[in-house]
Amino acid sequence: NSAKLAEQPNHGTLTKDGVDVLLAANMETAADLPAIIQGGAEAVGLFRTEFLYMQTDSLPSEDEQFVAYRDILQKLAPRPVVMRTLDIGGDKSLPYQVAGQTENSFLGARAIRQSLAHQQMFRSQLRALLRASAYGNLNIMFPMISTLDEFRQAKAIYNDERSQLTAANIPLGQVHVGMMIEVPAAAILADRFAQEVDFMSIGTNDLIGYTLAADRTDPDVAYLYQPYHPAVLRLIDSIIRAGHAAGIPVAMCGEMAGDPIAVPLLLGMGLDEFSMGANELGRTRELIGQLKAHDLASLVETVLNSASTSQEVITMVQAVAPDVV
Ligand code: PEP
Ligand code: MG
Repeated sequence: NSAKLAEQPNHGTLTKDGVDVLLAANMETAADLPAIIQGGAEAVGLFRTEFLYMQTDSLPSEDEQFVAYRDILQKLAPRPVVMRTLDIGGDKSLPYQVAGQTENSFLGARAIRQSLAHQQMFRSQLRALLRASAYGNLNIMFPMISTLDEFRQAKAIYNDERSQLTAANIPLGQVHVGMMIEVPAAAILADRFAQEVDFMSIGTNDLIGYTLAADRTDPDVAYLYQPYHPAVLRLIDSIIRAGHAAGIPVAMCGEMAGDPIAVPLLLGMGLDEFSMGANELGRTRELIGQLKAHDLASLVETVLNSASTSQEVITMVQAVAPDVV
C-alpha cells in the first residue's frame, strides 16, 4: 500500500470521509531522502537547514549551500519543499564561532533574530535558496518570528536579493514565503500575520515550551511540557482559523503533527498539512484514513469549550475514537 502511494507522491491523503490533507515529512540532511520518498511523503514541510551548517567545521559558502539545496529539490521534485532559514540557538548550536552566536538560550538571539542582526550570513543563505529555486518546488519560511516587523524585514531582504538575482538574469522559480508560528505572540496575532505571509506552519515543539514556560530540553519540567494543554489547543485552533479566514494554508511541522492523540483534533480543526519524521508517515496515513473529519469538528468544539486539563482532553479524544487512538 505504501509502495503504491510512493509511486503517486502528489496525491493527498484522504480521511474516511474524503477530506484531503497533505502528508509531509520533516528532514534534516540529504540522508533522510530515501526514507522520505519510500514513506510516500507528498511534500517536505520542514527542511531544517541548520544541520547543513552543523555538519561542517566552518560556515558553508553560498555555492556549497546552493548545490546542497538544488540536489534536494531535484530529488524531491515535483513535491513542494519548505526550507527554513537558519535556526541556531536554543537546542542547536554551530561547532564554530559565527557573528551573533550567543550562549544557547531559548529566549535569546536565536533563529531569525540572529539572521536579522547579522545579515551577511542570512543574505548568502537566501541567495543560495533562490538560485536553487529554479530546480524544483521551493518555499521558504522564517523561524521564531515574534513581531510583524521581523517578518517584514526578513521579507524585504528576501525581495532585495531576489531583485538583484533577477537583474543578473539568474533563473528563479516561483517561491512562496511563509513563517513558523512557534512564539505565543505570533500565535495570538496570527490573523494579522496571515495578511502578509503566503503560508504559516505551526512549530509545536517550541510553541508548547513557550506557552507553558517549560524548557523543552529540561527533564525537571517535562511534566509541564503538555501538547494537549487546552491553552495550546486553543492557540492552534485560532491559528488555523486565522489562516483560513485569510485564505492561506496552515501546516504543522512540530512533533504533534504525528501524535495519534493530536491528529484527530488537528483534523477536526481543519489543519491542511501534517509534517513529521519519515518514520511516522505510515502510521499517520493509516490513522487519518480511519477518521472522519466532519465528526471530529464537534469533538474539537467540545474540547475547546469544556476541557480544563490535558487528561480531560485525552479522555475526550479516546471516547470518540476508541479503536484508533
Ligand atoms: C518546532 O518548534 O515545532 C519546530 C518544528 O522547529 P524545531 O523543532 O526545529 O525548533
Ligand atoms: Mg522551533
